[in-house]
Parts: sequence; C-alpha cells; structure tokens
Amino acid sequence: MILDIVQAGAPVLREKARKLSRDEILSAEIQDLIRDMRETMHDAPGVGLAAPQVGKNLSLCVIEDRPQYLLALPPEKVKAMQREPVPFHVLINPKLVGRGETVIESEGCLSVNGYGAKVPRHSEVYVEALNEKAEPVKIQAKGWYARILQHEIDHLAGNLYIDRMDTRSFAAVPARK
Ligand code: ZN
Repeated sequence: MILDIVQAGAPVLREKARKLSRDEILSAEIQDLIRDMRETMHDAPGVGLAAPQVGKNLSLCVIEDRPQYLLALPPEKVKAMQREPVPFHVLINPKLVGRGETVIESEGCLSVNGYGAKVPRHSEVYVEALNEKAEPVKIQAKGWYARILQHEIDHLAGNLYIDRMDTRSFAAVPARK
C-alpha cells in the first residue's frame, strides 16, 4: 500500500522518533509498515524514507539507491556525487557517528516537495542499528550513501535538511508529482 508522505509543518516531522523493541520489530504491524514504506519510497521515487514522513513517530527508515536512478543521470554527475547503487535495507533505532571532512552537495526531501538546497554533511559515517529481523548491523559508508544515512537519521531526531542547509542556495526544483 502506498502511504501519504507528510510535508514540512506536520508536527510528527519535528518529534524525536520512538525506539522499537525487538518484539515490536517482529510484529505484523511493523513488518507491514516496512513493506508499505518500501513501496512508497519506490513510488515517490526516493532513495530513503523515514517513518515520521509517513506520519509514524518510530525510529525506522528504509534506504535504497537503485541502479536505474544512477543511469538516469550524467555519468560525470554520478562520479562527482560519489554515488553508487545501494541495495534495499532497513535501519531501526540507528545511532550515527559522522567522520571525515565536510562535503557540500544539493539535496532534497520528499517532505519538502518542490525544493532543494546545498547541505553540508560528513564525508563518512559509521552507523549501528537493527535490521528488520531485529539483528544488529554495522555500516561504514562514504559518498552519497553517507549523505542518505545522515539525511534519514536526521528525520528520526526531528531534523530536516533545511535546518542545516546553506539558506541562500534554497531553490525550487521540479515537484515530485
Ligand atoms: Zn527527507
């Protein structure tokens, strides 16, 4: 089922997301939510979606950067973004440590539809989380994937990219639908 994506101004986007217990993660309700969020992310389309964006105050996000998204961009842009395909995965109760230099790239958000801006982010990150089976996972990422992780984990703390952006770069971009 495709879920409605809430837009900036919705209070849930500004709340700190609640952590999930192991039993909750394995429940039919959360497994259904993960399936629906995957479908919603594909439909948007987007490379990440956090539960608050579908109105759920839960520390859960889904991420996937599909090969076809990269093929739709000029190769030099993909290279400049340090962007590589990322398979579908789920992060629950993630903890993030940022590392490396600060890199600035254009970013958008499905909850700030129709706009984009340049946003400084760490070039590398280290993340600890649980997956959809409630198993611990550790991720080390750099490049565009590190940016996606920082963007999605920000959502779970009630932060949006507009809190971090270079405000003078904020610009209208083609709206999603
Ligand atoms: Zn977002």
